[in-house]
Amino acid sequence: MVFDLHSHSNCSDGILSPQALVSRAKEKGVTVLALTDHDTIAGIEPARQAAADEGVTLVAGIEFSSRWGSREVHVLGLGLNTESPPLLEAIAQQQAARDTRAEAIGERLARLGIPDALAGARALAQGQVGRPHFAQYLVSIGRVKDEAAAFKKYLGAGKPADVKFQWPEMTQAIRWIHASDGIAVLAHPAKYPLTRTKRNALIADFADAGGEAVEVISGRQTNDITEDLAKMAETHGLAASCGSDFHRPDAPWQELANFGNLPERCRPVWTLLGYPA
Ligand code: MN
Ligand code: MN
Ligand code: MN
Repeated sequence: MVFDLHSHSNCSDGILSPQALVSRAKEKGVTVLALTDHDTIAGIEPARQAAADEGVTLVAGIEFSSRWGSREVHVLGLGLNTESPPLLEAIAQQQAARDTRAEAIGERLARLGIPDALAGARALAQGQVGRPHFAQYLVSIGRVKDEAAAFKKYLGAGKPADVKFQWPEMTQAIRWIHASDGIAVLAHPAKYPLTRTKRNALIADFADAGGEAVEVISGRQTNDITEDLAKMAETHGLAASCGSDFHRPDAPWQELANFGNLPERCRPVWTLLGYPA
């Protein structure tokens, strides 16, 4: 069996529809696919139907944004009961956090003499409104020459329209997932700007909070990273997950199923989802 337990559709910041994502997964040899859009399960139902047609097994998932201290970290929920009221409430709360931030960015830009940025960004977004949509809007009205310039002048860290998210604590994200019958997986620990000591502390805290697994493999990465994360997972008694973090077809380092095998020492997270090791 080929497991890819981290992917995105255009219900969050991916490019493909849930149906097209499932078809591509099939094409790439994935037999068990988790759809883990950012803070939404809108793609799960259409993906489920496509998966049934294609003979792929779909795992209902999500990727929650959360906070560890002052840092943003992502927590995957796998095998969710998508009708669970706590899950639907959590998603509503995350959506509200995104809306609040988008409104605050819109207000900052209005004060800078760009009155319709929020409406403009909303019109450009398919679903969730994020900074890229504000950047696209600023380009479209000729305020900046390209999106990079929009970040450099307005939206980037420390710039006048930079507004931080108020995400919930990582422990809260884990509780939401457990209340929805899911397995909590710390997403891509090597991708946060942390020293090895801090990364280890994050994984320790995740385990203490009841999280079940660490994403030992996230797309193409070096063996050193894989081995190091496998060791940390083992040390803290956590299972191991693997996924591409697929967003778009033109990014081969995040292509579906395009990553190595979990090291022997790992206890695969799919055993917790009922699949054989
Ligand atoms: Mn993303
Ligand atoms: Mn992530
Ligand atoms: Mn992701």
